[in-house]
Formats: sequence, C-alpha cells, structure tokens
Amino acid sequence: MVKPEKLIENGIRLDGRKPDEIRPIKIKVGVLNRADGSCYFEFGGNKVIAAVYGPREVHPRHQQKSTSAVVRYRYNMASFSVEERKRPGPDRRSIEVSKVSREALEPVIFQEYFPRSAIDIFVEVLQADAGTRTAGINAASIALADAGIPMKSLVSACAVGKVDDTLVLDLNKDEDNYGQADMPIAMTPDGKITLLQMDGHLTRDEFREGLEMAKKGCLEIAQLQRTALMEKYSSLMEGEVNE
Ligand code: ADP
Repeated sequence: MVKPEKLIENGIRLDGRKPDEIRPIKIKVGVLNRADGSCYFEFGGNKVIAAVYGPREVHPRHQQKSTSAVVRYRYNMASFSVEERKRPGPDRRSIEVSKVSREALEPVIFQEYFPRSAIDIFVEVLQADAGTRTAGINAASIALADAGIPMKSLVSACAVGKVDDTLVLDLNKDEDNYGQADMPIAMTPDGKITLLQMDGHLTRDEFREGLEMAKKGCLEIAQLQRTALMEKYSSLMEGEVNE
C-alpha cells in the first residue's frame, strides 16, 4: 500500500479505531493435542499459535542448568504469513524477537522449581500485520498456563506508537510502516514491565503518556487471557461433574 495522505482523520484511524483502542482479539486455548499447553491467538490481522513443551529433559545436555529450568523460545514466521513470500528459517529479526520474548516471560516463571529441565515455547506466526511479537507473547503466556507451568502471573503485551503526531495503541501494518514511533511493551497485571523496545522517537511526555496507554491495553488483554483460560477449565470441570 502507498503512503496514505492521513493515518488519522477527525480522531479516527484508517481501520476505524480510536487512538486508545486495541484491535479485536480471539483466543482459543488447548488447540494442539501433542503440546503440553497451547493457544491460538488472533490480534487484529495477526494470527499466531503458541505451543509449550515441558518441563522436560534438556537436549543438548550442556544447556541444562543445575539450579533452574532453561526457558527456550522460538519465534518463527511462516513463509506465507506476509505479503511477499518470506524466506523460511531463522534470520536476525526472528532471533531478536525470540530473545526479547523469552526475556519477557522468564520473570514470571518459577524456573527454580525445575532444575536440569527445559521449558520450550514455540510461536508460529501464520499471518502477520504488525504486532506479531506482542501477539506471540500473549499466546505464549496462555500456553504456559495451559501447560500447568507454575507462574507468578500472566504476561500481556501490546505496542503503543505515534502516527500523524498522535499517540496510538496497538499499531497495525500501515501505522507501523508510515508512523513516527513504535514501542512494544509487555507487562504483568500489576504493572511490572518485562519488555520495552522502541523504534522511532517520542518526547519524554509522549513516552509517559504512551506507557499509560499501553498499561490500559495490557490490562484489557490480561482480562481476555484470564477469561479464555477460565472458559477452557470451567468447561472441563463441568464435563467431569456431568459424567
Ligand atoms: P512485530 O510484528 O512484532 O510488530 P516488526 O515491527 O519487526 O515486528 O514487524 C512489523 C511487521 O512487518 C510484521 O508484523 C510483519 O507484518 C512485517 N514483516 C516483518 N518481517 C517481514 C518480512 N521478512 N517480510 C515481510 N514483512 C515482514
């Protein structure tokens, strides 16, 4: 798409959202039978699947830690997930996204409960529309809980940015391409930030205001994550009662 003349008109974005609105979210928990925990997560035009395996044996053995579990996170974009075919396999960007996403989740996992073991998280991006790392973290957080991994809390993530000199929550692809700043953030429901990256420029005041917007977005997402998990497990429990 060529650069639109305006990304915001009369306070409304090109996709009809207000500046502080996140895109629609759909969550399905436990979609993969062979994983210990899994989640399908739609965040606007992003579609991702997270699969969690573990705690399990560490291969290769030299990666094991004697006092805690190792957490491994692999973010991968399917070649059909973007407009132009993406060359399959890891690249600099996917290695970076994997690293920061792992670091966004590690603080909430009780790794010390599982020495000499591995917790493996795989995130596959099926469709990308800006915000895949945040969608991946949201999905992975649910998949970890679904796998029964002990956690201090969930982690929720969304980006805040600036387009046409206006702060906006959860940028879509056009806003990401033609905007002035993009700041993905992940946090726990009590506001502890576990990921903060910045592409572009924000003033100090914009940064502060943006952080507040991101907090609001993350709280909304946390509520949806909790509801999705509760739905799966309350329906399982109902099944048990009815049998
Ligand atoms: P995020 O997806 O977390 O926002 P980026 O800001 O790096 O991460 O990417 C923004 C968007 O750019 C992606 O969601 C995707 O739509 C697109 N994109 C990223 N990598 C590629 C690629 N190799 N080829 C085509 N589009 C890509």
